[in-house]
Amino acid sequence: MDKKALQAAKSQLIMISQRGYHRGLTAGTGGNISLRMKGSDIVLIQASGSAWIDARESNILAVDLDGKVVDGEGIPSKEVKWHCGLFRLREGAGAVVHSHSPAATAFAVVGKEVDLVSATAYKALKRVPVVGFAPPGSDELSELVLGAFAKEPIRALLLQNHGVVTVGKDVYEAMYIAEVVEDTAKMALWARQLGEPLRYSFPGWP
Ligand SMILES: [Zn+2]
Repeated sequence: MDKKALQAAKSQLIMISQRGYHRGLTAGTGGNISLRMKGSDIVLIQASGSAWIDARESNILAVDLDGKVVDGEGIPSKEVKWHCGLFRLREGAGAVVHSHSPAATAFAVVGKEVDLVSATAYKALKRVPVVGFAPPGSDELSELVLGAFAKEPIRALLLQNHGVVTVGKDVYEAMYIAEVVEDTAKMALWARQLGEPLRYSFPGWP
């Protein structure tokens, strides 16, 4: 493994984890972010039980596409299976962000898709479906996540009573999508406090 490339990728994962934490996209040790190293089958992910804000070179593990640790010490996040599955499924994917961001998760708690009330959100996301409940870390959850991303070209998915999953070509894009999903969920919730969200003419608007 190219040590220099590994260090650069770890720095990127640390930077994006801290950014996501400061944006309030997850709390405590919840959620996990993974990065696929360019041109390789190596995935970086934080060790289980460590918070995004505490991401350090020492608690980031390198795993293969089966989730087996190939560098670093510790146990990878319990969701590593579907993170790796998503990299196998989506060839161009360079990063996966799994957050527990509260407004988007509120939609997931009631089993509703995020209402894409702004033109920007619709353009970026098209649709953010929700899958049913399965315990975190379970094979069943893995099947639900991979099944949903295999079924249609979505960029974001809600997990009932749990959180959000986004996929991007790199950490910047995956985090950008996670931010848009959360802010759109907030807009939709606030808009409903004021009245019924308006629908304007937009090609393909649902
Ligand atoms: Zn989770």
